[in-house]
Amino acid sequence: MSGSKTIPEQVRKRAAELRDVLHRHNYLYYVLNEPEVSDAEYDRLMRELIALEDAYPELRVPNSPTQRVGVPPIDKFETVTHTIPMLSLEDAFSESEVLAFDDRVRRFLGTDSDILYTIEPKMDGLAVELVYENGHLVEASTRGDGYTGELVTQNVRTINTVPLTLIKTPSVPIPSRIEVRGEVFMPIEAFKRLNQERLDRGEQPFANPRNAAAGSLRQLDSRITARRHLEIFCYGVGTVTDLKFTSHWEVLQHLKALGFRINPYIKRQVRINGVFAYYRDMLDKRYDFPYEMDGIVIKVDDLELQKRLGEKARSPRWALAYKFPPTRETTRVLKINVQVGRTGALTPVAHLEPVSVGGVTVSRATLHNEDEIKKKDIRVGDTVLVQRAGDVIPEVVKVIKTKRTGTEKAFHMPAVCPVCGCKVFRLKGEAVWRCVNANCPAQVKERIKHFASKGALDIDGLGDKLVGQLVEKGLLSSYADLFFLDKTTLTKLERMGEKSAENLLNAINKSKKVSLSRFIYALGIRHVGEHISRVLAQKFRTLRRLMSAGVDELKTVDEIGPVVSESVRAFFGNQENQKNIERMLKAGVTLETEEPAGEQFLADKTFVLTGALETMTRSEAKARIQAMGGKVSSSVSKKTDYVVAGKEPGSKLDRAKELGIAILDERKFIQILRSYRGKG
Ligand code: NAD
Repeated sequence: MSGSKTIPEQVRKRAAELRDVLHRHNYLYYVLNEPEVSDAEYDRLMRELIALEDAYPELRVPNSPTQRVGVPPIDKFETVTHTIPMLSLEDAFSESEVLAFDDRVRRFLGTDSDILYTIEPKMDGLAVELVYENGHLVEASTRGDGYTGELVTQNVRTINTVPLTLIKTPSVPIPSRIEVRGEVFMPIEAFKRLNQERLDRGEQPFANPRNAAAGSLRQLDSRITARRHLEIFCYGVGTVTDLKFTSHWEVLQHLKALGFRINPYIKRQVRINGVFAYYRDMLDKRYDFPYEMDGIVIKVDDLELQKRLGEKARSPRWALAYKFPPTRETTRVLKINVQVGRTGALTPVAHLEPVSVGGVTVSRATLHNEDEIKKKDIRVGDTVLVQRAGDVIPEVVKVIKTKRTGTEKAFHMPAVCPVCGCKVFRLKGEAVWRCVNANCPAQVKERIKHFASKGALDIDGLGDKLVGQLVEKGLLSSYADLFFLDKTTLTKLERMGEKSAENLLNAINKSKKVSLSRFIYALGIRHVGEHISRVLAQKFRTLRRLMSAGVDELKTVDEIGPVVSESVRAFFGNQENQKNIERMLKAGVTLETEEPAGEQFLADKTFVLTGALETMTRSEAKARIQAMGGKVSSSVSKKTDYVVAGKEPGSKLDRAKELGIAILDERKFIQILRSYRGKG
């Protein structure tokens, strides 16, 4: 059959078009980490191409996106060839597709018996391969095009949850070489923080945590990766010497024993019907997880069967990704309002026709700034694609231009602040317009809210509404005023009884004793987040020293660049700020200086680790002790201060008992680590 003649011209054309479009989206997604379309849309285009290729197999050319994984690595990084290809996963969106997969597996194996599966959460990040030789991490790479990946060893080393050295236990020998595969991802909180920082600097935010994780891992400077808070869950192996496994579950147990982080929600030996309950349960919990999950993965558990099933071009035949419904949906922009933030930044917010996105009703979405609106050409009345990731504020991804009727109206940023009416400014090099009136009620409210927030003075009971009332009634015009509130004034407020007033005053009183770093953070200095506040507190030790530091001195501090230095100097150089600080100190605010510096909290303490910890790897525990100035020794002696005993501890525990050395179980050890954090 000369197939090429039988393919209608328009089908041939459409297939070529789809190949081009998908190649382009792959490049945007995998290389630039800046997708232009939603995954759902991408998946639809991919499915259309698969359907055409199924109908006309001749269309299935070797370089079709249906035959390939990701894209080849770019020349920024050195590359490495995976000894066993790292494939993608076939996906399913409905129960019937999952049942069809189970049928296919059984037919292929020629069996009527039930197949036992392992089911796992599908983290939405990017796949990496970690190579260990004689127990040490020697290489880490991205999936790349499945065959060749980018060498990102230095960057991966900065991820706390990646063990640098494997745990030796009597039951699990360390293989001379093991390739471990896992998903690197960015927790939602870290993603939110990163995007906020990028927006503050006028940079483009990442579209979602997955792209942020990929962008962070593929950095040429590993110090940037180190600051990005990436995590990993491991889910499989490539080549392994010395060890023999019979089931996927067994592989995971071994990995866990060697110190790898395995998702605790993985279940094994489930028949296909059990998969559905698990899927529903995970879907239910989807937004409770601190990271994004885009579905579950179903894997044939028996490795012998896996081998018999083998793989297709893009994916193994023994696994299936059963995806969650998309977190992106279309709706209409009803109007655009402008909100004023703590630093006076004007943020346009779209009010939307309410729509259910991944099970939650969305009626507002942030538009970030004027440039974003222009770039995306968002107009009032437009039909748009909105996305939400966990509890991140939903955002407009793009306009569906084909839905335009011509009645849509362009939006313009106001020339004056919508709250105080002062003229607004946009500084050179910044993406945001700002209200520069420091007394603008919107800014005052946001500053006070920030001052009282968890990471700052953590004042219980001072919620948004109450702050709003206090500012509107003129009772608060700066956070310093908080320390001068009294019961008589408070009880005059709506819905404020004597008891609540007392509670609030107690909470304010309690907050007066605060660490220097929290106080610095609470002041709301631009570009000074929790981490930078800690760095400043540890370096300068007292508020006075920090207040008098010049830009040049600030710049010499590790991690403090010119932008932060200028911002800190400008803040403390401002008379209003100085006055507020003096008033607070006068009112009894006492700053606990970081003495000994937070970093050195465990200075001179020697730890010995034995047995496996459940919540972290050995190398992570070691790194955390060292980060606080402690030492980790491999043997117990009289000089040892603490022995941390995990599961199946070795002879070190007996020795510690003999010598009467303090023994910490995992819970107590974590308490110590936390108490350090609390100090921060
Ligand atoms: P995928 O994300 O659908 O599935 C495969 C990947 O899942 C693996 O490589 C691994 O990284 C990951 N994974 C997570 N948990 C796992 C577990 N427990 N076990 C095994 N693997 C696990 O496939 P992909 O090839 O990485 O990406 C394709 C998808 O990416 C598309 O379906 C689409 O949603 C999205 N995409 C979007 C665009 C766009 O422009 N929006 C472009 C390209 C791809």
